[in-house]
Amino acid sequence: MVETEKKIQIPEVITVKEFADRANLPVTVVISDLIKNGVLASINETIDFETASIIGVDLGLEVELEEKTQKVNAFKSEQKISSGKNMVFRPPVVTVMGHVDHGKTTLLDKIRETSVAAGESGGITQHISAYQVTLNKPKNKDLKNKTITFIDTPGHAAFSAMREHGTAITDIVVLIVAADDGVMPQTIEVIKQAQGNNVPLIVAINKTDLPDSDVTKIKQQLSEYDLVPEDWGGKTIMVEISAKSGLGVDNLLEMILLQAEIMDLKADPAETAVGIVIESHMERGAGPMATVLIENGTLRRGEPIAIGSAYGKVRILEDYRSEAIESAGPSTPVRIAGLKSLPDFGARLLAFSSEKEARENAFLAQEGHSSIKISTAKRIATEENNQETEKRELNLIVKADVVGSLEAIQKSLNEINSTDYGIKVIAEGVGPISDSDVTLARATKAIILGFRISIAGVAKHLAEKENIQTKIFQVIYELIDYAKEELANLLPPEIIEEELGNGKVLAIFRDDKKGFVAGGSVDNGKITTGDEIKFFQDKDEKYRTKILSLRREKSEVKESVSGTECGFSLPAGATVAAGDAYIAFKTIYKKRKIK
Ligand code: GDP
Repeated sequence: MVETEKKIQIPEVITVKEFADRANLPVTVVISDLIKNGVLASINETIDFETASIIGVDLGLEVELEEKTQKVNAFKSEQKISSGKNMVFRPPVVTVMGHVDHGKTTLLDKIRETSVAAGESGGITQHISAYQVTLNKPKNKDLKNKTITFIDTPGHAAFSAMREHGTAITDIVVLIVAADDGVMPQTIEVIKQAQGNNVPLIVAINKTDLPDSDVTKIKQQLSEYDLVPEDWGGKTIMVEISAKSGLGVDNLLEMILLQAEIMDLKADPAETAVGIVIESHMERGAGPMATVLIENGTLRRGEPIAIGSAYGKVRILEDYRSEAIESAGPSTPVRIAGLKSLPDFGARLLAFSSEKEARENAFLAQEGHSSIKISTAKRIATEENNQETEKRELNLIVKADVVGSLEAIQKSLNEINSTDYGIKVIAEGVGPISDSDVTLARATKAIILGFRISIAGVAKHLAEKENIQTKIFQVIYELIDYAKEELANLLPPEIIEEELGNGKVLAIFRDDKKGFVAGGSVDNGKITTGDEIKFFQDKDEKYRTKILSLRREKSEVKESVSGTECGFSLPAGATVAAGDAYIAFKTIYKKRKIK
């Protein structure tokens, strides 16, 4: 190796691949050196500046911090959404938590009351689990027209969603403590969870209107948990309020916005929407209904979406007041109808450009497939690695007996590449499979294929222990077929809906909380209890579910054939009407074939 000190500039965080490109070195060399230094990072994973500097020394590089990206990247590592060019301020998302009876509900109601615009009929809004307030007349003029999003979700749920998805639903926690009571077990739990998850806390000392309230005592108690008020020289914002009378609530709202400014919360409305479910239920006449907090990007009516294993199109988009809207940007809570099944709390919403893509993603989520992570990451990844992660790739390490066979294998593998999938040879070489091949496979999530070679005893042992797949072939086309098969396993299957029967809905017999029963004709084929069924209005699919049971005349039957009429019961809340056409079907997931 030529030992000239080469200078490269990198940001605070860089992918292994980008680092290798900038250093003009093969990725495998970088990965091997990382492993030597105890870091297992695959090609698309990121390393920080410090790590890069350390391996830089080994590789004869002088690594410098790229100045212009310094600020942006510091921001990226702190915030949940990192994105492209159009970053703008977004409203903070706030959860109020505290011990039972300390006034959480009263406070949320008081804030909601003040948020109801003058002239709005009745002033009572439907209770959904999120709403927004905009400050019209703040004391601090800079905060005029700034918005806060409140979500009213059980405290533990907000935190567990955070743990599962690695992101916070909430930016700021308002901890409410009753001044006539003091720090209680649930108060301590909230403090610990917020501190453990690095979520800033603002304390609202409530019920200060009561004669036996003791604010100093509360401040003392909180100080024992590292929450020291600003007027005692600490850093925690504490606001004295009465949720009942409203005293101090305006001040609390202003403090929340000031905290948000310090946090520099930003998002990119130009991106494809990403959101998180904070509530979901079946609604009569509308079907599955989800309340979603948009985290980044803009969601539009009509867009195909996947939420966990549920998918569909945004048929109805409403704001927190249940008013129809056309689009919703970052930090906005929205109600969505149009999903074909009920999504779970905490599930991620992703928007797509086609319903097919949305459906594939939902399928992968259902299967717990690892590549769902890749597509999720794709949506919130920076522009430069978009292309990198979009393609589904099988990472391979190939070892062969002679250079000639390696070349032949490489040539055939290259032919497999297409725009949305491909095979990436991480490393190749002549000779037996060694323990360093296994270590590299682990770091790069690769499988090892050998041609007319053996595997060293140590390597075999290590591969078994680390669960690394190794396979040796004597015929080239068998090796290639095997690689194709493994690649096919990474791809979403082809989804085929095989029609079993069809007909028309003639009447609705029952539609209440407990159930839904429709009567219909079977015009072709046959329908059976348990079949999947989809309904159409003017050729547009509007709803799909499963047939729970079938009745003919007065008795329950298992199936009903062409030329008959029958009643079928569907889950409560089904969106089906007389006149709809239906198709009963079976979904077949066909593994993709790679040519
Ligand atoms: P939560 O369990 O935390 O949601 O508490 P609630 O909001 O239901 O309040 C519990 C009780 O405390 C209710 O009877 C409220 O009317 C009362 N309360 C809430 N805030 C205040 C306040 O600021 N002053 C007084 N005097 N009572 C309050």
